[in-house]
Amino acid sequence: MNQELFWDEHMILKSFTDGLLSSGCINLTEDRMIPLAGTVDFGGLEMVDDETRNWSFLKVPSLKKQNPDTRDLILAKAGRILNEEKRVEFLRQFSVRGLLNAYDSGKIHLSLEAQCRVRDWCCWVMIQAELFRNPESGDLIAYLYSRDINKQKKNEQIMNVILDRSADYVAIINIRTKKVVFQYLSDEILKAAPHWKYKSEIDFEKDMYQALSAFLQEDEARLVQSRTSLACILKELEEKPVYTATFVMHLPDSMLRKQVQYYWIDELREEILAVQTDITVAYEKERQNERIRREAVTDPLTGLPNRRGLRSELDQIEARCKKTGSPLTVAMGDIDFFKKINDSYGHEAGDAVLVRVAGMMLAFMDGRGIVSRTGGEEFFFAFPGIHLAEAKALLEGFREKISRELIPFDGSEIRITMTFGAAAFDQKGTLHDVIQAADMKLYYGKEHGRNQVQG
Ligand code: GH3
Ligand code: MG
Ligand code: MG
Repeated sequence: MNQELFWDEHMILKSFTDGLLSSGCINLTEDRMIPLAGTVDFGGLEMVDDETRNWSFLKVPSLKKQNPDTRDLILAKAGRILNEEKRVEFLRQFSVRGLLNAYDSGKIHLSLEAQCRVRDWCCWVMIQAELFRNPESGDLIAYLYSRDINKQKKNEQIMNVILDRSADYVAIINIRTKKVVFQYLSDEILKAAPHWKYKSEIDFEKDMYQALSAFLQEDEARLVQSRTSLACILKELEEKPVYTATFVMHLPDSMLRKQVQYYWIDELREEILAVQTDITVAYEKERQNERIRREAVTDPLTGLPNRRGLRSELDQIEARCKKTGSPLTVAMGDIDFFKKINDSYGHEAGDAVLVRVAGMMLAFMDGRGIVSRTGGEEFFFAFPGIHLAEAKALLEGFREKISRELIPFDGSEIRITMTFGAAAFDQKGTLHDVIQAADMKLYYGKEHGRNQVQG
């Protein structure tokens, strides 16, 4: 970037004080500009050339020449730094025709709040017009001006943050000086750390971290320090508008989960807002919901997905397989004479066998696909990307392994065998049909001696 231009840009934005940005006066009746002494003309709003995207701060000379064409041009150019929606609104309200219409409909004051963007900076402005009739000449006059309302906007935002989110702690940090330039502490924080209220010249990285680290466990403290360094926050904010970090506070009698969100509140003044909220309750609730969601799709005995859990996974596998045309083999497996195990060793032994077998199945699948407990001692397998012959060979290996396994229970060693039926999805029918076909194969295996793989 051209250094000189950058400097100009910077200076102009810096010169945006809390007061007037620009003002001008138009005689609407005569359709001409009225030069005003001591005011900043609308040329001050001309910041970026839309076509070239080059920065320019032009004092529009024709403004002084009272060229009526230029006036509309100035208005149009002022509109350039607004976003599309605001620009349309601005031109509708503040063009000569718009102002005349407003006066005709009884309005004497117009205002428009808008966010102006100039390259990376943004600033809130209030554009206003006062309409009046000159008592002597009877001419209709429009006095237009714009104000920087960044500060009000910022305060508004902070208030909203404090009110809406019941924040614990809110701070504005100047990223250049690394100092906290504003802070709000909730009653709870004030109670816990009363001295903090009167702390002045707080260094965001040093003081804040020190105050916080007293409540953090050792390894987490290091993590928090790196994640909440200004360098890290700025890097994150380059990629997204809000950066969220969480940590757990260890108090003598409780553990609180906190969330801090960082975002730009005033890019012009290089200030970031940090909002800390207590999310302990929300977090616990979410965890509980997550547990309920997980339990709904999991078989409690074996930890394998149940029928419901299988459904959603299977839908995804089916969709992917149809889309890519890749092979898919499904299989059903059932423990042979399982009833006898219950009858001879007791129900608990049966449970122990199921748990052991489920563990072996998970190890066997090893990321090859999914396995689910679909019934008492009945299991379902899906092998995406694997042809029938290969899946059958894999299952044969597993069948053999199972048949050799000695499952310990209460001093005894239980041996089991399993029968499997497999079928391949041919891209034509439904997956439901294929599952039924696998089931038929399983029954065939049961009828023909068990302890085998059919497909
Ligand atoms: P087959 O070789 O024909 O499959 O014979 P089987 O005895 O394995 O089949 P059957 O369907 O006759 O019996 C299944 C038994 O599984 C009946 C039921 O009591 C038992 N069962 C189902 N769920 C569980 C469970 O969670 N724990 C235990 N211990 N037993 C279960
Ligand atoms: Mg059985
Ligand atoms: Mg069965």
